[in-house]
Amino acid sequence: MASDPQNYDLLIIGAGPGGYVAAIRAAQLGLNVACLEEASALGGTCLRIGCIPSKALLESSQRYREAREKLAAHGVLAGEVRLDLETMLRRKDQIVTTLTKGVDALFKKNKITRYLGHGKLTGPGRVGVENQGQSHELRAKWILIATGSKPATLPGVTLDGERISASTEALSYQAVPGHLVVIGAGYIGLELGSVWRRLGSQVTILEFLDRILPGMDAEIAAEAKKIFERQGMQFRLGCKVSGARVEKDRCLVEIEGQEPVASDRVLVAVGRTPHTDNLGLESVGIKLDKKGFIPVNQHFGTIAEGVYAIGDVIVGPMLAHKAEEEGVACVEYLATGGGHVNYDAIAGVVYTEPEIASVGKTEEQLKEMGVGYRKGTFPFRANARARTLNQMEGWVKVLADAKTDRILGVHILGPHAGDLINEAATAIAFGASSEDLARTCHVHPTLGEAMREASMAVAGRALNV
Ligand SMILES: Cc1cc2nc3c(=O)[nH]c(=O)nc-3n(C[C@H](O)[C@H](O)[C@H](O)COP(=O)(O)OP(=O)(O)OC[C@H]3O[C@@H](n4cnc5c(N)ncnc54)[C@H](O)[C@@H]3O)c2cc1C
Repeated sequence: MASDPQNYDLLIIGAGPGGYVAAIRAAQLGLNVACLEEASALGGTCLRIGCIPSKALLESSQRYREAREKLAAHGVLAGEVRLDLETMLRRKDQIVTTLTKGVDALFKKNKITRYLGHGKLTGPGRVGVENQGQSHELRAKWILIATGSKPATLPGVTLDGERISASTEALSYQAVPGHLVVIGAGYIGLELGSVWRRLGSQVTILEFLDRILPGMDAEIAAEAKKIFERQGMQFRLGCKVSGARVEKDRCLVEIEGQEPVASDRVLVAVGRTPHTDNLGLESVGIKLDKKGFIPVNQHFGTIAEGVYAIGDVIVGPMLAHKAEEEGVACVEYLATGGGHVNYDAIAGVVYTEPEIASVGKTEEQLKEMGVGYRKGTFPFRANARARTLNQMEGWVKVLADAKTDRILGVHILGPHAGDLINEAATAIAFGASSEDLARTCHVHPTLGEAMREASMAVAGRALNV
């Protein structure tokens, strides 16, 4: 170890959306900040191998599908449409490079010191950094663990990083698989399954539960499944995968009580687990909970004094914007004594076609909690803008408290649901009632009018249906 360790106010381990945003906010608040990241590029799972590359491929693959199947309805007759997968993948990589370099620039602008290497807590206020056999030690008043998550797998399913792999590899298949089996019907499985289906793969999705998208609104998930089936995806629900292996030139996925399924590739998308490998948590007395998360209090403090944790490595939805919110709240608390995250206003989006977005409580949760609610829905087929887009599948559902009319949840299946949901998140953050949204003039013709109409429908006064 070096004899003259650097000393910071705040040392952040991990430069994903949780860590890098926390670093910027801490620097704005006047703290002397360093951020330690073991990957050569900043930005974490989200920018390098998650949100951004998956959305780039979803966008490109949707253009390909539209050019082949949808343009004729607009009177646009394209010639032969062919796939140039190499260019599609290169475009995705360029977007990732631009954005990760952008984080570098933000670090420089905010005078955040960046260290490259693996970080390991070595005691209170101390972190060892290892990089290519070299090691040194850093010191800080506060340490923020933002080490994120890594793909989970199932017993009997070993990821070989090749034919049987997780999402990272599925972002870069060099050829369109003939048959892709996806294990898990959560958002990652559905998004990447959609990408390769649009590009020509036969896609079979295996799911243990009897529904897709566990945790999201059940009615919307059931309708989405029908739409995905019309797009050619095949679902096998209620099947327990007991193993997967490569045999000669094919992959075989074993399912309890059923014939194995053969395919060219297997994408294991059964969720993610907190990333705490070789982090030295024992040196400061931190013990993980049963699911491997770092336990924290309401200010993101761990049991160890001066050590905090945020993002995917703590309990809660594994989402980039949740990690960002927590990072900001945590460092604001450290620098000012105040900082708060409103978890009710954190939306989740599935970027399929159509998109699925959700914020607040689902009907199932409200029933379980015994909360009385009123529901208003509005279909996109009755929305003028959706008609002009030729994207009329789905609807908006607004759930409001039966007594107070306060909006408790909004669930959308439909075009640009991921953008529309921000209005609902703002409404929930401001404690708005459904009448507040219903009485707010929305621009015509926009998809947002469907949100207003669904809010009107709560009181039985939707106008256009
Ligand atoms: C395919 C895919 C698509 C996704 N799409 C979306 C989406 O559309 N929207 C959304 O909100 N979320 C999405 N997510 C989830 C999102 O990426 C994560 O929730 C988010 O990145 C979590 O942020 P984080 O900062 O907690 O951790 P991460 O982004 O995982 O960053 C943690 C960083 O810590 C580094 N690190 C770990 N251990 C150490 C160590 N000991 N020393 C030094 N560095 C270390 C890692 O290299 C990593 O860069 C997606 C994920 C995947 C896999």
